Amino acid sequence: MFIVSIDADTCSGCNACADGCPAHLLKFNGEKTEVVGDETECMGCESCVTVCPTGAVSITEM
Ligand code: SF4
Ligand code: SF4
Repeated sequence: MFIVSIDADTCSGCNACADGCPAHLLKFNGEKTEVVGDETECMGCESCVTVCPTGAVSITEM
């Protein structure tokens, strides 16, 4: 199981991570992008980690 989290202080709100998420877990809230729904539905593909320019996304394997 993988859990995704976004550090709101580090996120620039570029929203680059959201489009590539196959689980549709990442959504722009008007200022930042945040995890919506069940963060444990993350597939661990690391697409969001790879594309994030600020290192704001963390994936934890449980
Ligand atoms: S790619 Fe990184 S900086 Fe851009 S919205 Fe996603 S978490 Fe924030
Ligand atoms: S690792 Fe993949 S499935 Fe998980 S939040 Fe990032 S893009 Fe979505």
